[in-house]
Amino acid sequence: MKVLLATQKPFAAAAVKGIRDILEAAGHEMSVFEKYEQASELEAAVADAEALIIRSDKVTAAVLDAAPKLKIVVRAGAGYDNVDLAAATAHGVVVMNTPGQNANAVAELAVAMMIFMARTQFTPATGSEIQGKTLGIQAFGNVGRLVGAKAKALGMNVKAIDPFLSADQIAAGGAEPETSLESLYASSDYVSIHIPATPETIGSIGYELISKMPKGATLVNTARKEVVDEAGLEKVLEARPDLKYVTDVAPDNYAALREKFGMRVFATPKKMGAQTAEANINAGLAAARQIVSFFETGCVKFQVNK
Ligand code: NAD
Repeated sequence: MKVLLATQKPFAAAAVKGIRDILEAAGHEMSVFEKYEQASELEAAVADAEALIIRSDKVTAAVLDAAPKLKIVVRAGAGYDNVDLAAATAHGVVVMNTPGQNANAVAELAVAMMIFMARTQFTPATGSEIQGKTLGIQAFGNVGRLVGAKAKALGMNVKAIDPFLSADQIAAGGAEPETSLESLYASSDYVSIHIPATPETIGSIGYELISKMPKGATLVNTARKEVVDEAGLEKVLEARPDLKYVTDVAPDNYAALREKFGMRVFATPKKMGAQTAEANINAGLAAARQIVSFFETGCVKFQVNK
């Protein structure tokens, strides 16, 4: 089969080699299409592809229209809001992600962000310690669980909530289960967001919820910028000069937020949660293996458009 590795933001060279080795050993042919700038370039590149591996690349209905032989798209990573799932289903294309493969990289960044904000963005001003503080984890999936374990090791009290997990499952993952999102926000010095971006979650964290946070609290977002309602965030930062926001990728109103609130707000210049050599390799190799099993055995274990 013809497998196209299409990544605007390239994989590390070692990851590309590993992906090629897995695919070629199974008799597939791989080509690499990197650093493209326009969506139209991707549309041209997918003409012959029977399988596609992507990262944050947008697979729109137009891309799917331009890929008549395509059978499977694997998003090497966790979030798949960059793929038009309805259009893929309509085209009979299976979409998968590679859950958990980059979770540790994102979890380490979330912990680093808490410390970065607690220590006044590494300026000499007097900071605070995270030991003894309470961390509330919103969604206890692959990243959330790892953030919890790391935070516990650093001496934090860890609570979590997840609408798809029971209290027992959360307790088994090492966190104290919370009964409502409101009480999680109200009782946490840090809230770390790990929900996926879906129609239900986009814009769901806004003024009402954030304003419940206790004095001096920090909201940490390594999920997607879209889950936070930017106007609500701006309003609450205005009303509550004690709150802080740190995020992996700038909100659209970042310039205004920095101007108004200075160092109470920080955004990474480019999404970097999964940008480690290890995560690149893990997610890329998992994507290649999933494609091999899909064509060999029809395995659709990680399909997200069922
Ligand atoms: P995951 O699928 O393992 O966990 C997601 C959790 O969210 C699950 O436990 C699920 O029960 C819960 N959930 C699902 N729908 C929900 C809803 N409507 N409301 C509340 N909770 C819901 O995913 P993960 O690997 O932990 O990643 C979490 C998110 O982090 C991803 O969806 C992605 O958007 C983001 N992410 C960001 C980066 C980055 O580079 N910053 C990298 C990887 C993932």
